[in-house]
Amino acid sequence: MKNIKMITFDLDDTLWDNMPTITKAEFETRKWIEDQVGKVEWGDFNGFIKIREELIKNDPSVQWDISKLRKEIFRIKLLHIEPESYRNRIVENAFDLFMLKRHEIELFDDVEMVIKGLSKKYTLGVLTNGNADIYKFDIGKYFHFSISSLEAKNSKPHRAHFDEAIKQVDNVSFENILHIGDHQVHDILGAHNLGIDTLWFNNNDSEWDQAFLKPDEFNAWKDLPEIIKNKYD
Ligand SMILES: [Mg+2]
Repeated sequence: MKNIKMITFDLDDTLWDNMPTITKAEFETRKWIEDQVGKVEWGDFNGFIKIREELIKNDPSVQWDISKLRKEIFRIKLLHIEPESYRNRIVENAFDLFMLKRHEIELFDDVEMVIKGLSKKYTLGVLTNGNADIYKFDIGKYFHFSISSLEAKNSKPHRAHFDEAIKQVDNVSFENILHIGDHQVHDILGAHNLGIDTLWFNNNDSEWDQAFLKPDEFNAWKDLPEIIKNKYD
């Protein structure tokens, strides 16, 4: 049995349901921008992918600095707004509003209670590809560290987040970590590749799609303490 000392958690879609939050944040930010400057052609998802590819060609950091990506996309959509200083001010204020709204999340049931309990026994950390800041929430006090793609300068499933995690605490290696997340590739494959134990948060009945053995899964946070206890105590 492994000697687990540290548990790392993904954020979006693991601690909360991200889609409603992001959709609302996006909608309200666009509305605010249009209230300032009039109608904007936002384009569709394919257009977004194309712009993203172009931006990455000029500045590869946009791949992991999603805040920069978002600002640059606003800037491109507002290119017709003059002068540039005014455009930049709109971009910055719109981004601030987006970030405010992006943090209007609702934790899944029992998350707070379970995290609090686990923090008494394990060092807890956050490994996120997103730009939500756990320390903006009350629950942040239970986490010893938080690493986003901005700090890791890469995105899961790349190993950078996990490499950073073991630097946070003395005498912890990959075999002492349990990583918990919703994403089969970003979270589970990424950790699995390094020999890190995983638990899969699967609250929407997804089929296991990877070429390695499915880890234990759970669909309700209240079950998590018991799963961890049975596996590692
Ligand atoms: Mg996730």
